[in-house]
Amino acid sequence: MRPSETAASRYGLQPQPPSEPSPPLKPDPGVTSAKEAEFCRKYKDNWSVIVKEKWQRRLDHLRRELVDLRERQSQDLGAMFGDPSLNCRFEDREGRVQPLYHYQQRDGQTYLTCVLCGVTVTGKRNLDIHISGKKHRFALAEVKVIEAGVPGQEEALPAEPAIQRLLDDFRDAPLIGIEYLVEIVEGDRGELGKPSYRCELSSTVLKEADDVVPYLVSANHRLNYLKRFYPTAYKKFSKGTVPKVESWNSKTFQFLESVIMRIENKNGRLRPQVVASDATYQKTRANIRRKIETGQHFRQTSDQDFASLPDPFGNSED
Ligand SMILES: [Zn+2]
Repeated sequence: MRPSETAASRYGLQPQPPSEPSPPLKPDPGVTSAKEAEFCRKYKDNWSVIVKEKWQRRLDHLRRELVDLRERQSQDLGAMFGDPSLNCRFEDREGRVQPLYHYQQRDGQTYLTCVLCGVTVTGKRNLDIHISGKKHRFALAEVKVIEAGVPGQEEALPAEPAIQRLLDDFRDAPLIGIEYLVEIVEGDRGELGKPSYRCELSSTVLKEADDVVPYLVSANHRLNYLKRFYPTAYKKFSKGTVPKVESWNSKTFQFLESVIMRIENKNGRLRPQVVASDATYQKTRANIRRKIETGQHFRQTSDQDFASLPDPFGNSED
């Protein structure tokens, strides 16, 4: 079985020391100028195409996954039979995540189904026999198993953020700082599978998937990342004060993008965080932020420090 982190450890449900208050959230400021809007238009359009094509299918998938999960949690076979491994899930070939085992009580009999093998037995002892058998072990080796957390402490969370595969499909522009993106699975009004987003780099609210890429490619987001992790490059764009993005011409946006592209070419992309609901987000935001901050980021290194980057404003006619 492939070990993986549990929801409890992922979202800081274990006791944590008190931390600094999180900064207030603000709405997505959008583009800073007509020049930036022009620069981003192509990306925005191409992202909309991806969202239109794929989002509904991802959401349907997410909804099914969450319904399955909640059903399994209401069963909590791990607690029922004193065996936490009964709460494991697996990802099938179509990428659908399902509980490994299913329980039913009928005519005074306990029926346990191994969903993976499609085998139903009566009683836990017979399930144990099935689990230790060859057929089951071979089938298990073929799928990705997602281990369960502490019984009763796990929140229904999808195996990956719904937006992940759409982001994977977006290759028109480099995306940096994805690790600061938080997917809140349940919509603001509690709708199942209508995710909204937050960027913890700048405490920004992104209402829906459509807003995510336009935000990630914005100069402000990119500069915020450089400011934190690539200070040498940042200084060149900010000229020692604050960057005046609103007066940039298209060459400066392109130049910034070439820097981000070099970072992505060297490091790849990181992945968004995922949290079950807005209520959980509010309650555990400090923990989520701490997890992001102590997690992986790309950084200026001696072989990529941008010290020899020319002045982005050296040739300022547009
Ligand atoms: Zn089986």
